[in-house]
Amino acid sequence: MNVRRGAPEVDAIVVGSGPNGLAAAVTLARAGLSVRVYERSEQVGGGAATAELTLPGYLHDVCSAVHPMALASEFFRRFGLSDRIDLVVPEVSYGHPLPGGAAGLAYRSLARTVDELGRDGPAWRRLFAPLVDHADQVAEFTGGQLLRIPRHPATALRFGLRTLEQGSPLWNWRFDGAAAPALLTGVSAHTIRALPSLATAGAGLTLATHAHAGGWPIPVGGSGAIVTAMVDDLLAHGGEIVTGTEVRRLSDLPPARVVLLDVTPRALLRLADGDLPPAYARALGRFRYGNGVAKVDFALSGPVPWAAAGLHAAGTVHVGGTRAQIRRAENTVARGRHAEEPYVLVSQPSGSDPSRAPAGRHTLWAYTHVPRGSTVDQTEAIIGQIERYAPGFRDTILATASRTAQDVQAHNPNYVGGDISAGEVSIRQLLARPVLSADPWRTPLNGVYLCSSSTPPGPGVHGMAGWHAALSALRHDLGVRHAPDLSPA
Ligand SMILES: Cc1cc2nc3c(=O)[nH]c(=O)nc-3n(C[C@H](O)[C@H](O)[C@H](O)COP(=O)(O)OP(=O)(O)OC[C@H]3O[C@@H](n4cnc5c(N)ncnc54)[C@H](O)[C@@H]3O)c2cc1C
Repeated sequence: MNVRRGAPEVDAIVVGSGPNGLAAAVTLARAGLSVRVYERSEQVGGGAATAELTLPGYLHDVCSAVHPMALASEFFRRFGLSDRIDLVVPEVSYGHPLPGGAAGLAYRSLARTVDELGRDGPAWRRLFAPLVDHADQVAEFTGGQLLRIPRHPATALRFGLRTLEQGSPLWNWRFDGAAAPALLTGVSAHTIRALPSLATAGAGLTLATHAHAGGWPIPVGGSGAIVTAMVDDLLAHGGEIVTGTEVRRLSDLPPARVVLLDVTPRALLRLADGDLPPAYARALGRFRYGNGVAKVDFALSGPVPWAAAGLHAAGTVHVGGTRAQIRRAENTVARGRHAEEPYVLVSQPSGSDPSRAPAGRHTLWAYTHVPRGSTVDQTEAIIGQIERYAPGFRDTILATASRTAQDVQAHNPNYVGGDISAGEVSIRQLLARPVLSADPWRTPLNGVYLCSSSTPPGPGVHGMAGWHAALSALRHDLGVRHAPDLSPA
């Protein structure tokens, strides 16, 4: 198939306006191309959007709330995101309540974290200091296709050795206490996989490194602010966005020089309508989707009454207990069952950004992992887990809004079965995302590219998949060999 049918109506079409679709669109527009984005929903932004989900005046992040890559991603650094929107960086990147009223706290300051971890402090420092000191190199290494010669081999080696340790039965050897291993498990469990594994360890180490480097910033007003910044830039550089328009087949699109797809491999198979070479189509068909999330948003009359000191200052809280307890819960989900005492990822944005709720009131964002396609409402399970570490939490709840894994997919087809990573995050699928290739963004269809989080570097609001896909399209189809300047005008 050739997308260059007839005289092009626009240079580039982007299907899907998630953070990666918009990053691709911005990059192409900044290279001087005419760009049109088609979005099926009435709202732009895909997994980065903010809305009043519970009560008037309470702003909730519909999907992403925690943005470890907002400062670290190469795309956002080139784009100057921190100059365009207000980002607040909590003093505590993430906290972790433990049975008995204690808690581990991962401060933005590595030194303070080490001090408060007691006898495990020096082990934490030895694990993270070499990565935190080279956080930009960690971001470079993990921000693209892993299958390449690393630009900073010493940092890649340090990262690799630590991943092997934390992703294997050796993961406890350096720690004596409960807080340090729980902190690392809480952040590794973002990956929605059985623990320990190389993929969970690699993701956990990356997120924890950024927690101590730039911190985990919270956009003032919600994650939708990130999208607004990209939309504004796109429109200022001549781009157009058509909302409420689902693209069903590539052949329905107007002629363009390139088409970039912010969709999953499953959707590409459908959009191509039999035009893909059989071997590539078979590879896309083998792409696996992971387990899902069930989410609950809360409007609260006050802050969460955490039993442990310090948790109120954390942007993110990982609830679920010790390393062993979280491992049990995550491995239950990996076996296709709901956990009785699930791991819960909690974000409390209104603690740092009062604009999210009326004065004195709060919003809370929480999700838990569930088997893919689950239709089970997890409101009670999530409240029960938070209540365990914050007695009285239930009494602060003014309203809730719940989404099952099936609802998450209905909201956005990229999250197949509620899989917010748009494809299982395993080592195999980090290397072959969606296929084993030095340029996995480029499809065998002339001028057609995949740019979603089903391509490297995988899930998260970082724009890197869109940036890589756009650079590939510029290089291969548009004769542009230099990355365009993205800085604010
Ligand atoms: C509940 C939840 C919580 C999350 N929490 C975080 C977090 O805290 N931090 C973080 O970094 N990440 C988080 N994520 C993940 C993050 O949102 C995604 O990794 C990110 O949005 C992926 O960006 P994307 O552009 O690849 O795809 P998406 O954001 O999924 O956007 C894809 C867009 O394409 C549109 N689309 C799809 N098919 C078509 C079609 N045929 N025609 C037209 N339009 C189409 C969709 O409507 C959607 O708008 C979360 C996701 C969810 C769902």
